[in-house]
Amino acid sequence: MRNIKRSFLAMHNLLQTSRCPRCPCVLSSSAQRLFSTCASSPKVCIVGGGPAGFYTAQHLLRARSDVVVDIYERLPVPFGLVRFGVAPDHPEVKNVINTFTQTAQHERCSFYGNVSVGTDVSVEELKKAYHAVVLSYGAEGNRPMGVPGENLAGVFSARDFVGWYNGLPSNKELCPDLSSDTAVVLGQGNVALDVARILLSPLDFLKKTDITQQALESLRASRVRRVLIVGRRGPLQIACTIKEVREMINLPETKADMLPGDFEGIAEALKDLPRPRKRLTELMLKTVKVDEGSLKAIKQWGFRFLRSPVEVLPDADGKKVTGIRLAVNTLEGSGEEARALPTGQTQDLECGLLISSIGYKSLPIDPSVPFNSRTSTVPNEMGRVSHTGGLYCSGWVKRGPTGVIATTMNDSFETARVLLKDVDSGTLDVSVNKAGAQEITGLLKSRGVRPVSFSEWEKINSEEMRRGEALGKPREKVLDVSEMLEVAWSSS
Ligand SMILES: Cc1cc2nc3c(=O)[nH]c(=O)nc-3n(C[C@H](O)[C@H](O)[C@H](O)COP(=O)(O)OP(=O)(O)OC[C@H]3O[C@@H](n4cnc5c(N)ncnc54)[C@H](O)[C@@H]3O)c2cc1C
Repeated sequence: MRNIKRSFLAMHNLLQTSRCPRCPCVLSSSAQRLFSTCASSPKVCIVGGGPAGFYTAQHLLRARSDVVVDIYERLPVPFGLVRFGVAPDHPEVKNVINTFTQTAQHERCSFYGNVSVGTDVSVEELKKAYHAVVLSYGAEGNRPMGVPGENLAGVFSARDFVGWYNGLPSNKELCPDLSSDTAVVLGQGNVALDVARILLSPLDFLKKTDITQQALESLRASRVRRVLIVGRRGPLQIACTIKEVREMINLPETKADMLPGDFEGIAEALKDLPRPRKRLTELMLKTVKVDEGSLKAIKQWGFRFLRSPVEVLPDADGKKVTGIRLAVNTLEGSGEEARALPTGQTQDLECGLLISSIGYKSLPIDPSVPFNSRTSTVPNEMGRVSHTGGLYCSGWVKRGPTGVIATTMNDSFETARVLLKDVDSGTLDVSVNKAGAQEITGLLKSRGVRPVSFSEWEKINSEEMRRGEALGKPREKVLDVSEMLEVAWSSS
């Protein structure tokens, strides 16, 4: 009797858990993808397989048992800037990939790499095939300096330089000339410090990271010994965080070269500063005073404050950078809001490598999507794209290219919550069945586009780890899209 009761309960539970919450159809628990054929399960498509895309998907999948999520990514490989932005010597940051992998392997989630939305398929087509489309395509452009000479040889955006050492296929051919003594980095955010640190880090250390082998070889031959990190405002407005400054200070055989004059009156301001800024400022003040290790230092780095670019100075042939002319600024106001105003004076700094790290920028990918070209974001309210039903956004394209992965996680969760609220309130109509990936993959096939699935990405992943192992590093990235596809679609 007890056994019969137990079997009955088990059967009852099975039916309970596998019954579609929105209509009478019964779903097999081993094939929850069947939800995709259930008339009213919300089908959501996400554009971009970076942190914003994965965190939005994660929240949607966890919050409801009937949502089906498909992620479309331009590259054959997932993870966006976690793979192509985060510095190779910050492996701990890349651990988020484990969570993203779990999301991608969820039975109601599918990954379609090698699909460029706006080119291979339009947002309108996605909107027809899905109940909701979430734009999470990041910030693929960079803000220009807007000064004469910025296209000279030897001048790079931080985006391209970072893409080069991190194996972004489009930056494979960058070949930066590292034969000069001094490099100038414009901008004082964490990306600027990543670039400076990579330029000055000992090779023995970098060779154990996932930096590409070709970048490692260039850095091995590098003659760069001095990196100046230039900002338009003062020490109290610097945009980097203490961890990154400490890493600069701790670089072996490298000393900080600060100008004590830049820090006049700063000690007196300390008591009024919020705690994180106070600790960062104290650290910089300590660095100005102590010239530790200067005897054995063969390399140096330093901040240069209150300077804005005016002109990139060319060599005699007018082809290559030899320096940068900077406007000398003064500050109007104080604290975070202080503005840099030019004094009319200028200063020239000699350099053979100039890297502009003044910000990434989102680009419009499809004419049907509203885009604010002033802020370079998709206009939205809490992730709902303004005046466009069924369209949402998350991550850098939603709020602009600032903030760490945790910030991106929070705003992606917000977008997912808003989307689900719209489903619950009926603002987002999910009553009509949508064909989802079935329709889009058909369209892609007719256009000769073959997507890369997550299990095919895992083949690229294994190949990269195998290549890395042979070189004594965690991974050696495949640099070429065509080679990525070859590995992904190989039969082994
Ligand atoms: C150099 C650098 C270093 C960083 N280091 C750190 C760090 O150490 N720690 C930290 O917490 N944060 C770091 N960040 C910040 C972090 O990377 C971002 O917060 C986060 O990546 C933003 O996520 P996202 O998904 O909005 O954009 P992205 O990461 O850029 O992802 C967007 C994805 O969309 C894809 N895509 C673009 N266009 C299309 C299209 N048309 N169709 C389909 N897909 C498309 C892209 O290929 C990409 O995969 C760093 C950022 C940079 C730039």
